Amino acid sequence: MVRVAVIDYELCKPNKCNKECIVFCPVNKTGGKAIEMDPGRKKPVIYEETCIGCGICVRKCPFKAISIVNLPDELEKMLLHRYGVNGFKLYGLPVPRQDKVLGILGKNGTGKTTALRILAGELKPNLGEPDREPSWDEIIRRFRGTEIQNYFRALAEGKIRAAHKIQYIDLVPRRVKGTVAALLEKADERGIWRELVKELGLTSALDKDIRVLSGGELQRFMIAAVLSKDANLYLFDEPGSYLDVRERVKVARVIRSYMPKNSYVVVVEHDIAMLDYLSDHVVIMYGEPGVYGISSKPYAVGAGINYFLKGYLPAENMRIRNEPIKYTINPTEALQAIQTSTKYIEWTRLTISLNDFNLEVDPGEVYEGEVLGILGPNAIGKTTFVRTLAGEIEPVEGEVRKPGEKLKVSYKPQRLSPQTLGEDKTVEELLRETNSSALAPGSWINVEIVKRLRIDRLLDRRIDELSGGELQKVAVAVTIAREANIYLLDEPSAYLDVEERLIVAKAIKRLTEARKAAAIVVEHDIAVQDYIANRVMVFTGTPGIKGHALQPLPLNEGMNKFLAEIGITIRKDPETGRPRINKEGSFLDRMQRRLGKYYYIPRPGEKEQKEKK
Ligand code: ADP
Ligand code: ADP
Ligand code: SF4
Repeated sequence: MVRVAVIDYELCKPNKCNKECIVFCPVNKTGGKAIEMDPGRKKPVIYEETCIGCGICVRKCPFKAISIVNLPDELEKMLLHRYGVNGFKLYGLPVPRQDKVLGILGKNGTGKTTALRILAGELKPNLGEPDREPSWDEIIRRFRGTEIQNYFRALAEGKIRAAHKIQYIDLVPRRVKGTVAALLEKADERGIWRELVKELGLTSALDKDIRVLSGGELQRFMIAAVLSKDANLYLFDEPGSYLDVRERVKVARVIRSYMPKNSYVVVVEHDIAMLDYLSDHVVIMYGEPGVYGISSKPYAVGAGINYFLKGYLPAENMRIRNEPIKYTINPTEALQAIQTSTKYIEWTRLTISLNDFNLEVDPGEVYEGEVLGILGPNAIGKTTFVRTLAGEIEPVEGEVRKPGEKLKVSYKPQRLSPQTLGEDKTVEELLRETNSSALAPGSWINVEIVKRLRIDRLLDRRIDELSGGELQKVAVAVTIAREANIYLLDEPSAYLDVEERLIVAKAIKRLTEARKAAAIVVEHDIAVQDYIANRVMVFTGTPGIKGHALQPLPLNEGMNKFLAEIGITIRKDPETGRPRINKEGSFLDRMQRRLGKYYYIPRPGEKEQKEKK
């Protein structure tokens, strides 16, 4: 076994503790030296050769900054990179294949971004020796006989030219200035920017300054800019965030049809339906977040996603999770759960008018304890509708009936900025002033959100220092912790991994039961929507101009309407219950269209139908 000691130096604060890790270490106590202060950095350093792995420092550290794990010896042969002496270790690398799209799926903190940076040549791997810079020859020799070898050779010879769509696109408008048209024209090296604009529906955004773009426009702009580069490696880190379902499918099609011949494409995406639709192969990244990450062998996309969900990788003979992730195959239970409950809010046909935007809402109701899923594009009036329910906007026609009291809304917008949450506060201050029970050990918010999303590790951090994913977790926690009657969460899954998305989904369900409230959740990850919603409400129309909200419908019916509207067919995988998007024109696609079953739920015992062309 190889001992791996990792210190998270963001959490470690030696001037705020009594250096318990050093004081209590049994090796140190008996005259040896397993951990000491590094005089240069004024932070502790653990010597893995002398450390006996007792784990005392792990438990004593008040900031939970230390992790110690034992890993099998043979894994070390795959060690590719280590960030510093007690830093994160990356084993192996997802290896892209020419003319194929490689998807990467896995928990946050297991090295996906690190892997992308190595593939792109932005980070030269150090083979686990942070003090030395190994030559490319040595790196290539180390991985002799593996698929990585050829890729490294190409990288060493300067044959890889990468174009990289970064994960946190919100940072881009701070660094780049100009209009969409001007910037795309400048970025374009393939003479295709106008085509991409048309394909990605950016025509109406051409003259806009990129600072005023909506999240979805900014995402599509970035994808167009990257695809227009004359590269041979295209990296897309979470291309689905802020896009609605139709746009996700469109982006997947555009990436596939515009990748140049002989190029490599690598995609990190946590929306498993989108990843499935976009990729040929997948690599699963697993390990312990922030401590070590291992890249699996490549699997065919359908099988790989199922192995990931089941939590077992056969080629590695490795269990990566104790519990499988299962989506419900037939959602009738979700519907029955609320049918016995009382009506919470009821509305007649509504007409709402805001300057140039008009919204028609069909009559409907929300039940106590219900999670109402919302499906539809951005700027179609979803927020306007909820604000009308809360009495913040008066409808021109119709009325909202509610039980006596005034309803309070707790709202999480789609895009977050540190300013709106309170940039100069710490996470702890923000949670405390929102609802002190979020910090009370044993309260359900503390257990099911704060701990499970690992927000307890962020308590000392300032809001404006959080990454996009961390900010999302904190914003979700705050929205849920707030006492209210209606909760509106707009895309709570952006930047979260598959497991975190389900933790949030469960917490939202729990919230509506515990508070007898209703939650309205805008979610473009269909697997998550399917998992969380009791019923769904479909919004159609022309974004920014005219919206039409249909009455809340049972999940199957609502999904069917929604998918028919956007022209996509989906089948549920009988093994895992996950939704799979049918390839356009495939046998299943044609059959489902003919039957009018845009959302196909297999009968019990039914096997997965192969997609035939
Ligand atoms: P993912 O993309 O899967 O979330 P990353 O590759 O971003 O994972 O990071 C994996 C781990 O590597 C992080 O949890 C962090 O602890 C560590 N890490 C990332 N970048 C650095 C860096 N520049 N210096 C030190 N540690 C880093
Ligand atoms: P969604 O939540 O579906 O993204 P919104 O309900 O926020 O959409 O907005 C729908 C449309 O109404 C958008 O075009 C938006 O610009 C416009 N809008 C929203 N609030 C106002 C307002 N207070 N005044 C004028 N127009 C508004
Ligand atoms: Fe010392 Fe035990 Fe921590 Fe190793 S795990 S540094 S031996 S306290």
